[in-house]
Amino acid sequence: MVETVFMAELSWPEWREKIEGGAIIFIPIGATEQHGPHLPLNVDVILPTAVCEAVARNTGGLVAPSLAYGYKSMPRSGGGQSFPGTASLDANTLSLMLRDIIRDMGVHGVRRFVLVNGHFENTWPVVEGLDLALRELRRDGIADVTAMRLEYWDFVKQATLDRIFPDGFPGTELEHASLIETSLMLKLRPDLVDVSKIPQEGRASFPPYDIFPPPPGYLRESGVLADARGASAEIGEWLLHDHVSMITAAVKKEFGL
Ligand code: ZN
Ligand code: MN
Repeated sequence: MVETVFMAELSWPEWREKIEGGAIIFIPIGATEQHGPHLPLNVDVILPTAVCEAVARNTGGLVAPSLAYGYKSMPRSGGGQSFPGTASLDANTLSLMLRDIIRDMGVHGVRRFVLVNGHFENTWPVVEGLDLALRELRRDGIADVTAMRLEYWDFVKQATLDRIFPDGFPGTELEHASLIETSLMLKLRPDLVDVSKIPQEGRASFPPYDIFPPPPGYLRESGVLADARGASAEIGEWLLHDHVSMITAAVKKEFGL
């Protein structure tokens, strides 16, 4: 039996022992958001959770329960809020959930956190939650908490991107439900992917601004922003390898492991 890295599967004395030994707490932060007709609603939860699980194993850390809801889906990076099944939080709600979780764990002795974001729109509400938590802890006399915050998709070698996108990488925003996320899901949860439903419409193009509310024709009907055709578990394997090895190296460097 492999020892679990999921903190929710530990008893409280086991959890305390790990934390007293200096374990890092990894928090996967996702969303419940449409990912086209071929992927489930929980892609943005599954992917950062899998990365956290592997990096926690490499670093002796623990993975906190994933945040399954995220900040609102934007048309240019997630297809928008109008898709059935997309359920999002106000920015303030997400920030305060995270603030409360980090603060309580800080009170109980956690001194090192790694926040791993899996949903493009979460970035600044997550920064806010982290900042509020650290400020509260400092005011309570707990001043030695340190945290890393990152988007897992930034940890990829240029050579890997060149291999996957010989015609050039379209950029992270447009990758919503596209080649990268579909390939990672084919690697991690092929049972949840229906490749026969991958849209055939190609890459979306947007002006460099948002309009509220989105005008007719502005939203992508399928919810997929780039092109998922050609996705494979092998590509998912290359990406996951980069994500896990590069995030592990960064965590070890920053926390002196
Ligand atoms: Zn996604
Ligand atoms: Mn997303």
